[in-house]
Amino acid sequence: MYIVLLGPPGSGKGTQGQILAKRFGLNHLSTGDLFRAILGDEDHPLYPKVQVVKEGKLVSDDVVNLVVEDALNKEEYESGVIFDGYPRTVAQAEALDDMLSSRDRKVDMVIDFDVTEEVLLDRLLGRRVCSSCKGVFHKKQGYDKCPKCGGKLITRDDDNEETIKERFEEYKNKTAPLQQYYKSGDSKYICIMVDDVDKTPDDIQKQIIDKI
Ligand code: AMP
Repeated sequence: MYIVLLGPPGSGKGTQGQILAKRFGLNHLSTGDLFRAILGDEDHPLYPKVQVVKEGKLVSDDVVNLVVEDALNKEEYESGVIFDGYPRTVAQAEALDDMLSSRDRKVDMVIDFDVTEEVLLDRLLGRRVCSSCKGVFHKKQGYDKCPKCGGKLITRDDDNEETIKERFEEYKNKTAPLQQYYKSGDSKYICIMVDDVDKTPDDIQKQIIDKI
Protein backbone atom coordinates (compact mmCIF):
# COMPACT_ATOMS: atom_id res chain seq x y z
CA MET A 1 0.00 0.00 0.00
CA TYR A 2 1.23 3.51 -0.85
CA ILE A 3 -0.11 6.37 1.28
CA VAL A 4 0.55 10.09 0.82
CA LEU A 5 0.29 12.38 3.85
CA LEU A 6 -0.70 15.89 2.85
CA GLY A 7 -0.81 18.95 5.09
CA PRO A 8 1.06 22.11 6.12
CA PRO A 9 4.17 22.14 8.33
CA GLY A 10 3.22 21.11 11.86
CA SER A 11 0.04 19.31 10.79
CA GLY A 12 1.16 15.99 12.30
CA LYS A 13 2.38 14.15 9.20
CA GLY A 14 5.55 12.96 10.98
CA THR A 15 3.85 11.77 14.15
CA GLN A 16 0.90 10.12 12.40
CA GLY A 17 3.18 8.72 9.68
CA GLN A 18 5.29 6.90 12.29
CA ILE A 19 2.20 5.48 14.04
CA LEU A 20 0.54 4.40 10.76
CA ALA A 21 3.76 2.84 9.45
CA LYS A 22 3.99 0.66 12.56
CA ARG A 23 0.31 -0.19 12.50
CA PHE A 24 0.23 -1.30 8.84
CA GLY A 25 3.81 -2.61 8.55
CA LEU A 26 4.76 0.06 5.99
CA ASN A 27 7.93 2.10 5.60
CA HIS A 28 7.83 5.73 6.64
CA LEU A 29 9.62 7.91 4.10
CA SER A 30 10.16 11.52 5.18
CA THR A 31 11.89 13.67 2.57
CA GLY A 32 12.48 16.30 5.29
CA ASP A 33 14.45 13.73 7.35
CA LEU A 34 16.45 12.76 4.24
CA PHE A 35 17.34 16.41 3.58
CA ARG A 36 18.30 17.09 7.21
CA ALA A 37 20.64 14.08 7.04
CA ILE A 38 22.22 15.53 3.87
CA LEU A 39 22.56 18.94 5.58
CA GLY A 40 24.65 17.23 8.24
CA ASP A 41 27.07 15.82 5.68
CA GLU A 42 29.15 18.48 3.90
CA ASP A 43 30.63 15.85 1.55
CA HIS A 44 27.26 14.72 0.22
CA PRO A 45 26.93 15.58 -3.51
CA LEU A 46 23.49 17.14 -2.89
CA TYR A 47 24.71 19.25 0.08
CA PRO A 48 24.72 22.57 -1.89
CA LYS A 49 21.27 21.86 -3.38
CA VAL A 50 19.51 21.40 -0.04
CA GLN A 51 20.74 24.60 1.62
CA VAL A 52 17.34 26.21 0.81
CA VAL A 53 15.81 24.04 3.56
CA LYS A 54 17.36 26.44 6.09
CA GLU A 55 15.31 29.31 4.64
CA GLY A 56 12.06 27.34 4.61
CA LYS A 57 12.02 27.14 0.81
CA LEU A 58 11.27 24.00 -1.17
CA VAL A 59 14.13 21.96 -2.61
CA SER A 60 13.88 21.79 -6.43
CA ASP A 61 11.63 19.11 -7.90
CA ASP A 62 14.41 17.34 -9.81
CA VAL A 63 16.51 16.89 -6.65
CA VAL A 64 13.53 15.70 -4.56
CA ASN A 65 12.37 13.25 -7.23
CA LEU A 66 15.90 11.85 -7.53
CA VAL A 67 16.14 11.25 -3.78
CA VAL A 68 12.71 9.54 -3.70
CA GLU A 69 13.43 7.38 -6.76
CA ASP A 70 16.67 6.31 -5.12
CA ALA A 71 14.80 5.34 -1.93
CA LEU A 72 12.10 3.44 -3.87
CA ASN A 73 14.80 1.31 -5.48
CA LYS A 74 15.68 -0.09 -2.06
CA GLU A 75 14.18 -3.45 -1.19
CA GLU A 76 12.79 -2.27 2.14
CA TYR A 77 10.35 0.07 0.35
CA GLU A 78 8.88 -2.62 -1.90
CA SER A 79 6.21 -3.66 0.60
CA GLY A 80 4.67 -0.20 0.73
CA VAL A 81 5.41 3.35 1.82
CA ILE A 82 3.91 6.18 3.83
CA PHE A 83 5.13 9.34 2.10
CA ASP A 84 5.57 12.13 4.65
CA GLY A 85 6.21 15.51 3.04
CA TYR A 86 6.29 14.18 -0.52
CA PRO A 87 4.93 15.15 -2.98
CA ARG A 88 4.84 18.88 -2.27
CA THR A 89 4.19 20.17 -5.81
CA VAL A 90 2.01 19.01 -8.68
CA ALA A 91 5.17 18.19 -10.69
CA GLN A 92 6.33 15.92 -7.83
CA ALA A 93 2.91 14.23 -7.70
CA GLU A 94 3.11 13.51 -11.42
CA ALA A 95 6.65 12.16 -11.02
CA LEU A 96 5.48 9.92 -8.16
CA ASP A 97 2.61 8.57 -10.29
CA ASP A 98 5.16 7.70 -13.00
CA MET A 99 7.59 6.08 -10.54
CA LEU A 100 4.83 3.93 -9.06
CA SER A 101 3.17 3.00 -12.34
CA SER A 102 6.52 1.79 -13.71
CA ARG A 103 6.51 -0.59 -10.71
CA ASP A 104 2.86 -1.58 -11.30
CA ARG A 105 1.81 0.35 -8.20
CA LYS A 106 -0.19 3.49 -7.47
CA VAL A 107 -1.00 5.92 -4.68
CA ASP A 108 -3.75 4.03 -2.83
CA MET A 109 -4.70 6.65 -0.29
CA VAL A 110 -4.17 10.32 0.52
CA ILE A 111 -4.63 11.57 4.09
CA ASP A 112 -4.99 15.35 4.16
CA PHE A 113 -4.54 17.14 7.51
CA ASP A 114 -6.62 20.30 7.73
CA VAL A 115 -5.25 22.10 10.79
CA THR A 116 -5.99 25.62 12.05
CA GLU A 117 -3.11 28.13 12.10
CA GLU A 118 -3.37 28.44 15.90
CA VAL A 119 -2.70 24.70 16.31
CA LEU A 120 0.12 24.74 13.71
CA LEU A 121 1.98 27.58 15.43
CA ASP A 122 1.57 26.03 18.88
CA ARG A 123 3.02 22.77 17.59
CA LEU A 124 5.89 24.18 15.51
CA LEU A 125 7.11 26.63 18.14
CA GLY A 126 6.90 23.95 20.87
CA ARG A 127 8.19 21.02 18.81
CA ARG A 128 11.08 18.90 20.12
CA VAL A 129 12.43 16.11 17.94
CA CYS A 130 14.54 13.14 19.01
CA SER A 131 17.84 13.35 17.14
CA SER A 132 18.08 9.58 17.27
CA CYS A 133 14.67 7.91 16.63
CA LYS A 134 13.01 11.06 15.13
CA GLY A 135 10.13 10.83 17.65
CA VAL A 136 8.20 14.11 17.85
CA PHE A 137 7.25 15.72 21.19
CA HIS A 138 6.07 19.07 22.57
CA LYS A 139 7.98 21.16 25.08
CA LYS A 140 4.87 21.27 27.30
CA GLN A 141 5.33 17.51 27.88
CA GLY A 142 8.45 18.49 29.85
CA TYR A 143 10.77 15.69 28.70
CA ASP A 144 14.51 16.37 29.01
CA LYS A 145 15.35 13.36 26.80
CA CYS A 146 13.44 11.11 24.40
CA PRO A 147 10.98 8.96 26.42
CA LYS A 148 11.17 6.24 23.73
CA CYS A 149 14.91 5.76 23.23
CA GLY A 150 16.69 8.18 25.59
CA GLY A 151 18.02 10.21 22.63
CA LYS A 152 18.71 13.94 22.72
CA LEU A 153 15.68 16.18 22.10
CA ILE A 154 16.39 19.11 19.79
CA THR A 155 14.54 22.07 18.25
CA ARG A 156 14.71 21.95 14.45
CA ASP A 157 16.63 24.86 12.89
CA ASP A 158 13.62 25.72 10.71
CA ASP A 159 11.14 25.85 13.62
CA ASN A 160 11.52 29.61 14.17
CA GLU A 161 8.93 32.30 13.39
CA GLU A 162 10.65 33.74 10.31
CA THR A 163 11.25 30.37 8.60
CA ILE A 164 7.80 29.08 9.59
CA LYS A 165 6.25 32.07 7.76
CA GLU A 166 8.18 31.16 4.60
CA ARG A 167 7.20 27.48 4.91
CA PHE A 168 3.51 28.42 5.21
CA GLU A 169 3.83 30.57 2.05
CA GLU A 170 5.47 27.71 0.15
CA TYR A 171 2.69 25.40 1.32
CA LYS A 172 -0.08 27.78 0.26
CA ASN A 173 1.40 28.50 -3.19
CA LYS A 174 2.88 25.16 -4.21
CA THR A 175 1.50 22.33 -2.06
CA ALA A 176 -2.15 23.25 -1.46
CA PRO A 177 -2.97 22.77 -5.20
CA LEU A 178 -2.27 19.07 -4.62
CA GLN A 179 -5.57 18.79 -2.76
CA GLN A 180 -7.39 19.32 -6.03
CA TYR A 181 -4.96 17.03 -7.88
CA TYR A 182 -5.72 14.13 -5.55
CA LYS A 183 -9.42 14.89 -5.06
CA SER A 184 -9.93 14.50 -8.78
CA GLY A 185 -7.74 11.39 -9.03
CA ASP A 186 -8.64 7.79 -8.23
CA SER A 187 -6.82 7.43 -4.88
CA LYS A 188 -8.99 7.20 -1.75
CA TYR A 189 -8.93 10.72 -0.25
CA ILE A 190 -9.66 11.40 3.40
CA CYS A 191 -9.49 14.69 5.25
CA ILE A 192 -8.74 15.01 8.98
CA MET A 193 -9.82 18.22 10.74
CA VAL A 194 -7.72 19.38 13.70
CA ASP A 195 -8.89 22.59 15.39
CA ASP A 196 -8.00 22.03 19.03
CA VAL A 197 -4.47 22.36 20.53
CA ASP A 198 -5.32 19.79 23.19
CA LYS A 199 -6.06 16.96 20.73
CA THR A 200 -3.52 14.18 21.32
CA PRO A 201 -1.80 12.06 18.64
CA ASP A 202 -3.97 9.13 19.84
CA ASP A 203 -7.17 11.18 19.29
CA ILE A 204 -6.06 12.02 15.76
CA GLN A 205 -4.97 8.46 15.00
CA LYS A 206 -8.44 7.30 16.06
CA GLN A 207 -10.01 9.85 13.70
CA ILE A 208 -7.87 8.48 10.84
CA ILE A 209 -8.65 4.84 11.56
CA ASP A 210 -12.39 5.61 11.81
CA LYS A 211 -12.29 7.30 8.39
CA ILE A 212 -10.19 4.58 6.75
P1 AMP B 1 9.53 18.62 6.64
O1 AMP B 1 10.39 17.85 7.59
O2 AMP B 1 8.62 17.74 5.84
O3 AMP B 1 8.81 19.76 7.31
O4 AMP B 1 10.52 19.28 5.54
C1 AMP B 1 11.52 20.20 5.95
C2 AMP B 1 12.02 20.96 4.75
O5 AMP B 1 12.61 20.06 3.79
C3 AMP B 1 10.95 21.71 3.96
O6 AMP B 1 10.66 22.99 4.53
C4 AMP B 1 11.63 21.83 2.60
O7 AMP B 1 12.64 22.83 2.62
C5 AMP B 1 12.35 20.48 2.46
N1 AMP B 1 11.47 19.47 1.83
C6 AMP B 1 10.99 18.33 2.39
N2 AMP B 1 10.25 17.64 1.52
C7 AMP B 1 10.26 18.35 0.36
C8 AMP B 1 9.66 18.18 -0.91
N3 AMP B 1 8.86 17.11 -1.17
N4 AMP B 1 9.88 19.11 -1.85
C9 AMP B 1 10.68 20.18 -1.64
N5 AMP B 1 11.27 20.41 -0.44
C10 AMP B 1 11.06 19.52 0.55
